[in-house]
This record gives sequence, structure tokens and C-alpha cells, in this order.
Amino acid sequence: MRFMEFSRYCEQLEGISGRLEMIDLVSGVLPSLTDEELPIFVRFIMGRVFADWSPLKLGVGPNLLYEAVANVAGTKKEVVRETINTLGDAGLAVEQLFATKEQKVIISPEELDLIEVYRDLERMAVAGGHRSQREKTRVAERLFANARPLEGRYLSRLMLEELRIGMGEGNVRDAIAKAFAVDVSLVEHAHQAMNDLGEVALLARRGADALAEVKIELFRPVKMMLAQQGTITERIEEYGDVAVEYKYDGSRFQFHKQGDTCRIYSRRLEDVTASLPDIARLLMAATDRDVILDGEAIAIKDGRPMPFQYVIRRFRRKHRIDAMMEEIMLVPRVFDILYLDGETLIDLPLSERREKLEEVLSEHIAPQVRTADATAAEGIYAAALDLGHEGVMVKVLESRYLPGIRGRQWVKVKPGVDTIDLVVVGAEWGEGRRAGVFGSFLLACQDEGRFLTVGKVATGLSDEMLAELYALLKDRVIAQSGKEVTLEPEFVFEVGYSEIQTSPNYSSGYALRFPRFVRLREDKGAGDIETLDAVRERYRQQQNGGGAAPS
Ligand code: ATP
Repeated sequence: MRFMEFSRYCEQLEGISGRLEMIDLVSGVLPSLTDEELPIFVRFIMGRVFADWSPLKLGVGPNLLYEAVANVAGTKKEVVRETINTLGDAGLAVEQLFATKEQKVIISPEELDLIEVYRDLERMAVAGGHRSQREKTRVAERLFANARPLEGRYLSRLMLEELRIGMGEGNVRDAIAKAFAVDVSLVEHAHQAMNDLGEVALLARRGADALAEVKIELFRPVKMMLAQQGTITERIEEYGDVAVEYKYDGSRFQFHKQGDTCRIYSRRLEDVTASLPDIARLLMAATDRDVILDGEAIAIKDGRPMPFQYVIRRFRRKHRIDAMMEEIMLVPRVFDILYLDGETLIDLPLSERREKLEEVLSEHIAPQVRTADATAAEGIYAAALDLGHEGVMVKVLESRYLPGIRGRQWVKVKPGVDTIDLVVVGAEWGEGRRAGVFGSFLLACQDEGRFLTVGKVATGLSDEMLAELYALLKDRVIAQSGKEVTLEPEFVFEVGYSEIQTSPNYSSGYALRFPRFVRLREDKGAGDIETLDAVRERYRQQQNGGGAAPS
């Protein structure tokens, strides 16, 4: 497929607002693609270049993009920046610049091909070392040099990994099912195990059996199962016997072991093995089987858990780990098993997975109590808080492991205000004492690959925090207009609020009342933030009387 053809589909999709119509269009294209093109097309159409589990990261920031575009369009970086500011979108700006430019640097006036574009992006991702920026810019320039204006629009958005055409995982999953006439639940299940809709599309082409046989593979991290907020009594009333565990305030990890080799992945599925030699050592010593384990890494000092910040600092640490380990020793608390000696376990009920876990791991298992007695469970909750944990997790014993799903099968019970995780998509320059740094931040939830705003936060931020945020965000500025800047959606804030209101002022249609910054969620990426559906659900629950406590 020519990249031009891909770009035309994107343009068409951008003009469609109905979900079914979008799915129709994409499902009509998928069967015509070759086996090599299919996974690439599927990822590209979602604005992704690599599989979610892949360690490859493109690492193209706005600066690099501006430079490459400027060089190819024969103009200055400032002009690129100004055009983006005027049009409010990098893709449209590149398109306009390419339409009016004398495109100087055409190396080979060939038509761009989808597969070639992918290979070049892959080249950019693997370019490492201190020359990496130069190498990346060089490849980006070569791609842009051959791009026509419309291709420039989508190529630049792809490089920033935000296509803005409304094809998220849900729509793509449905399009795959329709294209190859397979059940959507099979596609979803295969996606949960493989963590890459690109490869799932290839299996779907082979048929339902190929999808059903899919297995989890070692060293290909699986998305983590997540929890909803809830209460102990409602769980017990609905299910009777439940599993109650402490909710540790650490950082989630997934441990993969095959023979003498192991790797540890963070909640964002990054390989953090080198930062966590203590966790690796402890778990390697606790089993001789090939396993994938799910757990929480916590820091303990004088018998009490240390706050989350200490743990996440260790996850981020790349150098002088030994020195840091003396200060903060991490220990694992393992609560699930997903794979054992070649067998995928995610479809077994929790009770059976737990039996296997206890069979294969000699230590470091998170204690679990099974009970149908709400008073007993409340007692565990009180004990958890006494011990300095966050609260408890209440899990349905019959539940399968659902990768990436925030379902009702796992419920978190913790005290305090309701918080929400949102991505920062913009900021405003501060005034007075806050001059020179950003003083308020525009926040968004997600809906099918688009980011929709829900409010601004300016309270709860200390001067130190503002300085830290400025240092992190200043290189992520895409556009600036007056005092407002548009940022690449990358950093996630946990925010408290008193209420969710409907609002015409923000693109989600909702607004947070009294938003307050709680913390920067370094363990989360833009894909982990609240969805529009979940915001709507919070609003609905609040209307039914179950609102968040005022912060
Ligand atoms: P929060 O913001 O409340 O920490 P979260 O958004 O990080 O939650 P949730 O899915 O809402 O993630 O809550 C589950 C998280 O709690 C898990 O991701 C994990 O990191 C942590 N956790 C601690 N103890 C447990 C446990 N026993 N079982 C499962 N998860 C646990």
C-alpha cells in the first residue's frame, strides 16, 4: 500500500463522526492488505508505530520534528512553530508548509510506501547513543522529503504518535472482527494475551481457531488487570465469598522468568529489570519454574511501608543502583500468576491461579483471606490502614485475569477523596511568583485515541513541583498562542475534585469542579488515563447520590 493511500483513508476517517461508519471503512480495507502490511496498517491507523509490548520507542519530540520539517520545506524552525501556532495542529501545519514550499531536498522522488515508512520509523527508534538525535533527524528528513502535503499531515502526526482520527483500540478491534468475520470477543481475548492488535489481525485472517489458540509468551509483557473503586459490602452482597488482600502503595511489576533469565516490566510495560536487581534476585530464588507473576514492589523501612514516591524513584533509576538500594530496599508482594511452564493461565478463575501461585512460589506471596463475612473483611481493611497500606483489594474468586481491563472483578477500597488520572495537554504561563514557569495545566481524558479536555488545575502545586513540572514539560511544547501552550500528551496527573459537572467549555462535555493536583503519575502513560466513558460513569453515579467527597 502506498502511504498516500493510507493518508487518504485517514483523511476520510477524520471527516466521519459515526463509529459504525468508521468501522465499516476500515474493515473494508483490511482484507486487501498483504500479511506484511496488515499489522503495520492496524497500528498506524491507531496512531501507533510499534506493538504495545514492544521495547521500541520512537522518541521524536516536537523539536526534532520542527527541525526536519524546516529543513525539508526550506524554511526556519520559527516559521514551522508559528504555522503550528496559527493552525493549532502540527499535521495541518506541515501540510500547509509542504503545499507552499519548494521542496528542496528530494533525494529519490519515489512514492512513499507503507512498509518503507514503517522501516524508516523503526530505524529512528533503534538509533541510539549520543548521535541518535542527528540520525533520527536525518531519517525524518528523508521521509518528509518524499512526502506530499497530505502525507506530511499524517506522517508528522504519526511521528508524534497522535493521529487524531478517532480510531482507538475499540473501533479497530470491531473492524478486525468484521473484516474477517470472526467473533469480536475472540479478537478481544487474543488482544489481551498478545498485546498487539496488529498481530491479532493476522490471526483473525487465519480464522477463529487461530485466534482461540493464542498463548501468552514470555518476555512479551501483558497489560495489567486494573481495579474499580467500590465497597466491601457491595462485593460480598453480590458474590458471597471474596478474596481480600492488602492494597500496597508501591509500584506494579510483572516478572517473567525462563530458566536462568528474568525480566521485570513496569505498569507501562517498560523493561525495568536493570533498576530492580533486588526484586529480580528475590523472585529468582523463590521459584525454579518458568513463570509470569504479577505483583506490587514496595519499600519497607523499619517494618513499615514507605510512600509510593520512594518506590517509583527506584523504578526510574538507571545509574548507581547499589547506592540507592542501600537506602531503599524493595520487596515484592506477588498476588497473581499468568503463565506457568508454557501454559497460559489467564482464563482460569482467580481461586485456581492462587493455588498454582502458592504451589510454585516459596516466598513473597501477598497474603489473601477468603471470606463472605463483611465484618471480618472490614477488620482486614482497618488492619491494612494500621499497617500503613493504602486499603484493601477485594477480588471475585471466579474471575479470570483480564489484561488491561478495569472491571468490577477487582475492587479497590481506600479512604479519602476521589481522584482521577488525566493527561496534561496544555498549560498556561504563570504570573507573579509563578512567572517563568507554567502556572496552570489543561487536562484531558481519552476516547478512541483522541484526547478530550475536562478542566484546568492550578491548585495543590508547590513552587518546587511547578519548577519540576516546567523542567519536564518545556520540551513537549507543540504550539503557543498568547499565554497558552499546547503540549504533547505524555505526562499524567492524579487530580482530586469535588464533583463532575457537564460543561460546554471543554471538549469532553464535562468539567471537574475544584480540581486539585495530587501527584504526578510517573508510572502511567497517556494510554492509562481515564476514558470518556468512565468520566460519564462517574458523573452518572454522582447523580445517583454516590458522589466524590469534597476535597
Ligand atoms: P490507584 O490510583 O488507586 O493507586 P491505580 O490507578 O494505580 O490505582 P488501580 O487499578 O486503580 O490502579 O488499582 C490497582 C493498583 O493497586 C494496581 O495497579 C497495583 O499497582 C496496586 N495494588 C496494590 N496491592 C494490590 C493487590 N493486592 N492486588 C492488585 N493490585 C494491587
